[in-house]
Amino acid sequence: MSAHHYDIAIVGGGMSGACLALALSRLSLTVALIEATPPDSSRHPAFDARAIALSAGSVQALERHGIWPSLAPLCEPITHIHVSDAGHLGQAHLSAAEYHLPALGQVIELSGAGLALQARLASAPGITLYCPMSLKAVQPEEARVNLTLSDGRSLTAGLLVAADGGHSFVREALKIPAERHDFGQSAVIATVKTAEAPGGRAFERFTAGGPLALLPMQEGLSSLVWSVPRAQADALAALPDGAFLAALQRAFGWRLGRIEQTGVRHVYPLIMTQVSWPVAQRTVLLGNAAHLLHPIAGQGFNLGMRDIDVLVRTVAEALAAGDDPGSHAVLCRYWQQRRDDQARTVWLTSSLAQLFSNDDLPLVAGRNLILTLMGRCQALKAPLARQTLGFGSL
Ligand SMILES: Cc1cc2nc3c(=O)[nH]c(=O)nc-3n(C[C@H](O)[C@H](O)[C@H](O)COP(=O)(O)OP(=O)(O)OC[C@H]3O[C@@H](n4cnc5c(N)ncnc54)[C@H](O)[C@@H]3O)c2cc1C
Repeated sequence: MSAHHYDIAIVGGGMSGACLALALSRLSLTVALIEATPPDSSRHPAFDARAIALSAGSVQALERHGIWPSLAPLCEPITHIHVSDAGHLGQAHLSAAEYHLPALGQVIELSGAGLALQARLASAPGITLYCPMSLKAVQPEEARVNLTLSDGRSLTAGLLVAADGGHSFVREALKIPAERHDFGQSAVIATVKTAEAPGGRAFERFTAGGPLALLPMQEGLSSLVWSVPRAQADALAALPDGAFLAALQRAFGWRLGRIEQTGVRHVYPLIMTQVSWPVAQRTVLLGNAAHLLHPIAGQGFNLGMRDIDVLVRTVAEALAAGDDPGSHAVLCRYWQQRRDDQARTVWLTSSLAQLFSNDDLPLVAGRNLILTLMGRCQALKAPLARQTLGFGSL
C-alpha cells in the first residue's frame, strides 16, 4: 500500500504546532498534524497547568492568522508591568497607555488553550490529525520526507516541520546539533489568590534565589512562575500551603496585599537549548524544538509565534511564485529572516536570567542602576518595551 502524501507534515501539536497548522489551513494545502497526546489528557506535556503571557505582537499575529477569536475569550489583558529588585530601590514600570495600546499582552492558561485549538483543528480545512500518534522514524530524501508513525503507518510530506518540543525527536533523529545550557534552576509554578485582585498588573521581581513573576489571570487570580536553585525547588514546592504562602509573601512583598491561597505547585527544570541552524533537508525545526528559553522574560512561545508568522508567509510566497515550499532555497529564505531575532532573543533571555539570578555585589549594584535609569528615562526603557511587546521595532 502506498504511503499517504501531504504537502506539509507537522510533528507536535503543542502551542507552536497547533497554531502553525491552523495558519497553514488557510493556504489550501494538505497538512498532517501528528501529536502523541490527546488534548483532554490531564498529563498533556504541552497543555498543562502553566499560564503564559502572549505579547501584543503575538496577539496581532494570531489575529492575522485567524486564530485569535478562539483564544481571546480565555485571555486576561496585561495593562501594567512592574519590575523590581527585592531589597533594593531600583524599579521600572511599563503601561499600555504609554504605548497607546489597549494591553501590553494577554495571559492565557495553556490547558484551556489546548482544548480551544483542538476544537478548531478538528474542522480546519486541509488538516488531518494523527492523535494520539507518535512519530517513530524520519527519513528525508531529495523529493520528500518519509515518516513512520507508532501504529506502523507510513506518510510522506514535501516539508516536515518539527514542533515536537525541547526534547525534539526529529532533532535527535536527524542529528541536528543543539547547544544546551543548564541554568541550575527550576521554575515552581502555581495559581495564587491575593487579597487585592491584580487588575491587569503583572510583576517581575528579582529575588536572592532567582526571578519571580506574577501574571494576572481571569477571576482575579495570578499565575506564579518562581525560578529558584534546582536543589531547593522540590522542597519549596512540597511545603504545606501555609508555609509556601509565607515564603512567597517574603519574596514577593505586599504589592497585592496578603497572598491568601495557592493551587498545586509544579516544577520545571530550566535548561536553555538553541539550534544554530534549524533547517535540514526538507525539514525545519520550530518553537521549543529550535529554541528552549528560560521563562524569565516570557519569550518562548512569543518567539515561536514570530517563527510561525514568517514560515507561513514564506510558504505562501513560494506557492504564489510556483516554488516548492520544502526546497532548500525556500527554507533558507525562511531562516535568513529568522536568524537575527532568534539569536538576539536567546542571548537576551539568557543574559537576563544570569544577571538577575546573581547575588554578586557589583552585579546587584549594576542591575539596580539599570532599573533605576529605566524607571526615569523613556529611551532606556525602549529595549525592555520592545522585547515585552514582541514587535520588531518601537
Ligand atoms: C514555567 C514556564 C513559563 C513560561 N512562560 C511563558 C510566557 O509567559 N510566554 C511565552 O511566550 N512562553 C512561555 N513559556 C514557553 C512556552 O510555554 C512554550 O514556548 C510554548 O508552550 C510552545 O511550546 P512548543 O509547542 O514549541 O513545544 P511543546 O509545548 O513542548 O509541545 C511539543 C508537542 O510535541 C509532542 N511530541 C513530542 N514528540 C513527539 C513525537 N515523536 N510524535 C508526536 N508528537 C510529539 C508533545 O506531545 C507536545 O504536545 C514558558 C515555559 C515555562 C516552562
